[in-house]
Amino acid sequence: MTKKITGKTKLLGVIGYPVEHSLSPVMHNAALAQLVVRVASRREDIAQLGLDYIYLPFPIEPQNLEVAIAGLAAVGVVGFNVTIPHKQAIIPLLSEITPLAQTIGAVNTVSRQNNKWVGTNTDIEGFIAPLQTTYKQDWSQKVAVILGNGGAARAVVAGCIQLGFAQIHVVGRNMQRLEEFRNSWSNSPLADKFQVHQWEELPKLIPQANLLVNTTPIGMYPKVDESPLSVEEIANLPTGAIAYDLIYIPKPTQFLQQAEKQGAIAIDGLEMLVQQGVAALKIWLQLETLPVEVMRQALQNHLGLGE
Ligand code: NAP
Repeated sequence: MTKKITGKTKLLGVIGYPVEHSLSPVMHNAALAQLVVRVASRREDIAQLGLDYIYLPFPIEPQNLEVAIAGLAAVGVVGFNVTIPHKQAIIPLLSEITPLAQTIGAVNTVSRQNNKWVGTNTDIEGFIAPLQTTYKQDWSQKVAVILGNGGAARAVVAGCIQLGFAQIHVVGRNMQRLEEFRNSWSNSPLADKFQVHQWEELPKLIPQANLLVNTTPIGMYPKVDESPLSVEEIANLPTGAIAYDLIYIPKPTQFLQQAEKQGAIAIDGLEMLVQQGVAALKIWLQLETLPVEVMRQALQNHLGLGE
């Protein structure tokens, strides 16, 4: 069904550079279309109910960020997602950011509230969603080992803290960037809730891991034969541990295949992608119930995963 755009259609979108590979338009427009079908079937006025939206990609070069944000306000955009390279740079341009986004120092969702831009971060919600539902358990005696110390690792650390892990270890390849990562949390109440380690310490950490998360891009399409860990390293992962890869294509990654061979439970990044989108759409539409399965299916179809 083609979306009918009228003078009343409201705008949502994603800003990034480049942005043409973003999967968010596929997922959000599928949800918006479904909501419209649901409302239309009740013969009510879609625009009146405020569900007449379209979600667009906005390629914005870094030097144009400030003027672009002002422009998005001027044309009445209701909300937008933020992707690389703007997740940190946008912070000073917003009127408010939530304590959660403040803590992790990155914004992925912005909404217009009382003529102000308010930023938050739904990656944490996305990351923890499978760990709070399908794989729900008492995490308070468990150990999380996180590979990588980039932007996504920040949401993963905050998510593991929220879940109450007993120990959280962040492992990186570059000591200077690891130190920067640790120091960037120094004003946060979460600062003493995790430790950083160099890659060489992995043989000691992996046998303790109940949750092992890959936040590096190693193994991402097209380098699908790569893995952040060697077969020997992953052989020390305890049976029954959870291996979680933030990468969603290929599905499963080499890392997850290796972990499954060791008897680990594998979670890929698709559900995180879906759930961070669901959380964003709830904020923009002020709705509690969304067509989550439609969003998941739209992504799977688009990625040729057709489950
Ligand atoms: P990022 O900020 O660039 O961070 C990448 C991290 O990986 C850095 O710490 C980097 O180390 C490390 N790294 C890169 N190559 C490495 C190597 N060969 N060996 C060891 N470490 C290496 O990227 P990001 O935004 O965090 O994204 C990371 C991954 O998560 C991407 O694959 C992205 O697609 C995925 N992701 C998925 C979702 C989802 O919803 N499923 C959401 C966000 C991100 P240095 O600091 O030393 O350079």
